[in-house]
Amino acid sequence: MIPDPPFALLVELTHRCPLQCPYCSNPLDMERAAGEMTTEEWCGVIRQAAGLGCMQIHFSGGEPTVRPDLEILVAEAAAAGLYTNLITSGVLCDRARLERLAAAGLEHVQLSFQGATAPIADRIAGYAGGHEKKLSFARDVRAAGLPLTANFVVHRQNAHQLDAMIDMAVEMAAERIEIANVQYYGWALKNRAALMPSRDQLNVMIESVSAARERLKGILAIDFVVPDYYARRPKPCMGGWGQRFLNISPSGKVLPCHAAESITTLAFDNVREKPLDDIWLNGPAFRAFRGTDWMPEPCRACDRKEIDWGGCRCQAFAITGDAAQTDPACALSKNHSRLVATALEDAQSGGEDFVYRNFRSAKALPGL
Ligand code: SF4
Ligand code: SF4
Repeated sequence: MIPDPPFALLVELTHRCPLQCPYCSNPLDMERAAGEMTTEEWCGVIRQAAGLGCMQIHFSGGEPTVRPDLEILVAEAAAAGLYTNLITSGVLCDRARLERLAAAGLEHVQLSFQGATAPIADRIAGYAGGHEKKLSFARDVRAAGLPLTANFVVHRQNAHQLDAMIDMAVEMAAERIEIANVQYYGWALKNRAALMPSRDQLNVMIESVSAARERLKGILAIDFVVPDYYARRPKPCMGGWGQRFLNISPSGKVLPCHAAESITTLAFDNVREKPLDDIWLNGPAFRAFRGTDWMPEPCRACDRKEIDWGGCRCQAFAITGDAAQTDPACALSKNHSRLVATALEDAQSGGEDFVYRNFRSAKALPGL
């Protein structure tokens, strides 16, 4: 299958971040600052992505504003005609810097929150004072005239604040709110017992979101991602592996999705060594699960195989140890009942302690 050009590029400029979210999508084996790509290398990648046909660039991390050259990279992307989005925790960027970023061509900001009140949000983030800083940053985004999306990752320990989160997003005049249940790989998998919501919590969340969508029609768009463990059919992860999306790690590894490194049986090409278009078209990691040829039964004979593309490869690997299995989130998978049993068990575990995402915890993890 020859793919279309990728629609979006997500660049993880750094894995450094002052927050320590226990569900962070960064790999357990985070990359150190010394290995990060230089300004010139990132600018080259941005030009290559635009040449390849990418439409959007998302500056992410870690915390992308840790990089002092972010303005240069935003300007490079804007000059190359890419739509520019900053995905940030908002705790390190003051108003003057935000204005410089807007002047460089930044078009949109996605700001993440860990809860609706400081005690809960700061405990989850492992960062005292973070929640207040985020609220102040949200005001700066609006003052700079930039559109704002508020991102909330929800789980057992903050699901009861969902209504308050939606009210917060309305108050800060966000255009959009993304409410995403935790996806369980990497750090989140390590913390699954402390994060998994119960079915009852999920039902309450679904009702809250549906009522809010009705109430806020025309004011605020709400995206809601349900937890895979309670789903009947998987999501079309990344719009299909290697079909719409590219992710680049701080040291230049090119990944089909931000969690792909959790699949330890795959090797990833590096943009420092090969051109981006070659990696996109021919990279073994991209070709491994692109299209439908790789699929096992029941996907191979299923009429949804070009709708959900067999679901999430990282989840298949996390649960079965084989990334080429049907996503266990699918009720047709032979591993589905095991997934549901795990979810119910974790939801009732009552454990509240987190393995925080930081270099110290990573060092203590077996195998790292
Ligand atoms: S999820 Fe949390 S710890 Fe991870 S990069 Fe985002 S703000 Fe930092
Ligand atoms: S069997 Fe495969 S293609 Fe069919 S719904 Fe399940 S995951 Fe999707």
